[in-house]
Amino acid sequence: MTTPVQWARYFDAPRYPLRLPTLVNGIDAKRHRVAIVGGGPIGLTLALALAHYRIASLVLEADDSVCLGSRATCISRRSLEIFAQLRAEQAFLAKGLPWTGGRSFHRNTEVFRLQMPHDENQRFPPMINLQQCYTEQYLVDAVHAWPDLIEVRWSTQVTDARVQDNGVTLQVQTQQQPYAVDADWVVACDGARSRLRQALGLKFEGTQYEGRYVIADIELKSDYPTERRAWFDPPSNPGSTLLMHKQPDNIWRMDYQLRDDDDAEEAVVRDTVRSELDAIALVDAQALDRCDVQPRDLHRTSLSH
Ligand SMILES: Cc1cc2nc3c(=O)[nH]c(=O)nc-3n(C[C@H](O)[C@H](O)[C@H](O)COP(=O)(O)OP(=O)(O)OC[C@H]3O[C@@H](n4cnc5c(N)ncnc54)[C@H](O)[C@@H]3O)c2cc1C
Repeated sequence: MTTPVQWARYFDAPRYPLRLPTLVNGIDAKRHRVAIVGGGPIGLTLALALAHYRIASLVLEADDSVCLGSRATCISRRSLEIFAQLRAEQAFLAKGLPWTGGRSFHRNTEVFRLQMPHDENQRFPPMINLQQCYTEQYLVDAVHAWPDLIEVRWSTQVTDARVQDNGVTLQVQTQQQPYAVDADWVVACDGARSRLRQALGLKFEGTQYEGRYVIADIELKSDYPTERRAWFDPPSNPGSTLLMHKQPDNIWRMDYQLRDDDDAEEAVVRDTVRSELDAIALVDAQALDRCDVQPRDLHRTSLSH
């Protein structure tokens, strides 16, 4: 049984119940071949890929549902090819909005037009836009097709990991009780601020870039085609950048860069979004129905190999 949580009008996210395994002296009675920490896009995709090799895995996920909002909304052809190998691509193609190009503007002048390679021999478009909550939900649905090989434990947070001679022991916390999990292998799929990598002393190496952005998912009915639009030094927000993407369910995604003294409060963002839309003069800002705001501190690392 799952209870839907309505955090956005367009998407009812099922909530999944906590399940405890059979415990012996506070330890999961079953030793697992692979433990995957984190049930986001990477952890769920990994579980599916392992299942296709007939390798069983246990996914430990801290939340009780999929993520909120659009997040990684642009899905590349390569990712669609990977989903196809895992027989999970149909839902993505049915819902996602395909696109092949974009326009870049300096202020209001178009300075560049992007056209990605695409022809009739390609099975998939170069990109589709789809909010990440759908991506995760479709992957969860695909995972449910492998009950013998994939177990997802929701509301189960990994708090520590200890490497043993023959594998790894994880400590997990739940609302009911903590317990330990033994596994031959563990994979850290717990996101950018991975607790597991910290516990194991693993670091990303590379060059870091930092920036503050606001992501606003706005509900807006518009027939404007699906293409990526980028503004540099936009008239309503000089010195900044602005990205705009059309998504399913009449949801538009706007990303803009914050200057140091800019406010990321919802009301401020709403006004900024309105003035951006007015300045762009491509859509009627009066038609703005809803604005879900996700401030984002971006710490981008270019990894060394
Ligand atoms: C606001 C926002 C906007 C973004 N916009 C973009 C974008 O435009 N384009 C883009 O490419 N990317 C974007 N991203 C990044 C994108 O969402 C991530 O790259 C993507 O989610 C990474 O997937 P993942 O599976 O590695 O990690 P995550 O999606 O972070 O998933 C990690 C999972 O691990 C779980 N977890 C964490 N710690 C533990 C623990 N200790 N125990 C158990 N479970 C744990 C979390 O609950 C989560 O479900 C954005 C992210 C945010 C937050």
